[in-house]
Amino acid sequence: MPTLLLRHADLLVTMDDERRRIPDGGLFARDGVIEQVGPTADLPASADLILEARGMVVLPGMVNTHHHLYQTLTRAIAQNAKLFDWLRTLYPIWARMDGEAVYVSALVGMAELLHSGCTTTSDHLYLFPNGARLDDEIQAAHEIGIRFHATRGAMSLGESKGGLPPDAVVEEEEAILKDMQRVIEAYHDPRPYAMVRIALAPCSPFSVTPELMREAAALARHYGVMLHTHLAETREEEAYCLARFGKRPVAFAAELGWDGPDVWFAHMVHLNAAEIDALARSGAGVAHCPSSNMRLASGVAPVRAMLDRGVKVGLGVDGSASNDASHMLAEARQAMLLQRVALERPDALTAEEALWLATRGGAAVLGRDDIGQLAPGKAADFAAWRLDRLEYAGARHDPMAALIFCQPRPADLVVVHGRVVVQEGRLLTVEEERLIERHNRIARRIVRGEP
Ligand code: ZN
Repeated sequence: MPTLLLRHADLLVTMDDERRRIPDGGLFARDGVIEQVGPTADLPASADLILEARGMVVLPGMVNTHHHLYQTLTRAIAQNAKLFDWLRTLYPIWARMDGEAVYVSALVGMAELLHSGCTTTSDHLYLFPNGARLDDEIQAAHEIGIRFHATRGAMSLGESKGGLPPDAVVEEEEAILKDMQRVIEAYHDPRPYAMVRIALAPCSPFSVTPELMREAAALARHYGVMLHTHLAETREEEAYCLARFGKRPVAFAAELGWDGPDVWFAHMVHLNAAEIDALARSGAGVAHCPSSNMRLASGVAPVRAMLDRGVKVGLGVDGSASNDASHMLAEARQAMLLQRVALERPDALTAEEALWLATRGGAAVLGRDDIGQLAPGKAADFAAWRLDRLEYAGARHDPMAALIFCQPRPADLVVVHGRVVVQEGRLLTVEEERLIERHNRIARRIVRGEP
């Protein structure tokens, strides 16, 4: 039972129920689980591993609720397109991926997330060309040491059946459901402190059939796993749902069993007041993806209104072809700034609220109460930033606000379940230079269609 002591942080931001911020703070953990949090003077004096955090601000590890890690291979493409045209440009490129591409791109995205202070991520993988499998990215998460909610995505409605994706990138529904069952049985860990969980994630109303949405919901409930999809992202999707199903996206989803605390939706940009109330009542969560919504000119999600009415909201960096970064701290900053400009209210989202969404908010959206805060009984997942940086000069009087009012920096120290993954800004679990080289080789092949 190895013990860990983190001590003398300038400020330890707990995000616990009392929102405690502890000067000269620290924590003591055993076997990856926090036993004590408090002023350094109150903590045990020794441990198997001691981490000195003088001059640092410490946050709970952030929780990313929406991503498409494979898209690190296709950044900065379709630069000036809205969602549907952007997808039409990218589908044929993504069709050239294989298992190695999924594995290597996942390592790259996860490395970026860890550097940014994110210790838990979900991913939405919804196309499986050339033998690619969800297993490829679960392997990557295991190797790099990040907590992982892998979602088995799917597309089944090709162009010939009125869907958006070309027929070449969709799967048969029977095969999809069979593989969903396989990955749940192989990987899903429902226990506290789980490092891997599975969720089921048909991609969107315009790329799967209502039957698959319904069947996936039944399967998820049979196994007790969560459900995830894109919803209410763009005006075009809203028009598609009205034309094809005679319903707005939220009502369409609810009719298929897609409501309740075991469901979370990415985006939720175009919502009316009644839909926000319905979400609050059902307990479904929202992955807010501000950078992607800005990049694709999708609109501004009503985050303030959702929070005021009690909807569970977390943050998602979204796929790397529409952000095109996996930086959780930067995403929290974007969330804060976007609500302010949208509502023309400087208090529309505070620094603490934005960081709460990135930690506690994300944990709640993923159905977890064992991460996202520094408190006894919670996982020892945390990130720390040195404050003696150029970017923070002049903001030392409020280290927590400095993190997102100032230019977001990579974390100097990141710990996942008591294991040091980033130390002095260096990722310890993968060799980055070789990874980047390998990734670029694959990206070249996929983007240019070279053999
Ligand atoms: Zn997405």
